[in-house]
Amino acid sequence: MLKIIVLMGAPGAGKGTQARLLRERLGLPHISTGDMFRAMKESHTPLAEELRLILDSGVLVPDELTIRVVEERTSKPDCRNGYVLDGFPRTPAQADMLETLAAGQGHPLVAVLVDVPFDILEKRVTGRRNCPVCGEIYNVYFKPPKFDEVCDLHPSAKLHRRADDNAETIKTRLATYGQETQPLIEYYERTSRLRRVDGTRGVEAIYADIENAVTGDK
Ligand SMILES: [Zn+2]
Repeated sequence: MLKIIVLMGAPGAGKGTQARLLRERLGLPHISTGDMFRAMKESHTPLAEELRLILDSGVLVPDELTIRVVEERTSKPDCRNGYVLDGFPRTPAQADMLETLAAGQGHPLVAVLVDVPFDILEKRVTGRRNCPVCGEIYNVYFKPPKFDEVCDLHPSAKLHRRADDNAETIKTRLATYGQETQPLIEYYERTSRLRRVDGTRGVEAIYADIENAVTGDK
């Protein structure tokens, strides 16, 4: 039997790619809280109306309501064999609620952390450049062009960097992520269900470890 996967990873760690592969290869739907809330906005069930009132009032969505949204979504047939949660749970309290839900659905649960040191994540973002002519993507740290700041194929084209790719933005995002996620990491460590996957390797090597965590007995 497949598991419910709580997929965790910092911005830029490659979590989205792994979620896509899990869907394509194991048929596990990728359930992100953002997508779920957006879908709810379009629907007209009593739960959706309740959620709409909360969202419109601008207050934080209470855990108890969020877990009911997760429950409604994961009760659909495509989740029968397990699913990948992304962005939920965010807190140990939500994780406790998920335990109850998972137990009721009869699936074991594993938390997978795609682990990449923050300094590497910073370099992935701040080193990123692309050619305005052909779109080729470079990274000055990991995949530099032959000559500084110009495309190998278009020497007259100075490489672009995205405006928000500055070091401060990414540093702030990573710090926030670290603060928010640490209690959750500790929660899953305590219950021996955290699998740390070395996210500095290639996509397939990372995937192999995740698939192992998802399909294995432990
Ligand atoms: Zn080019």
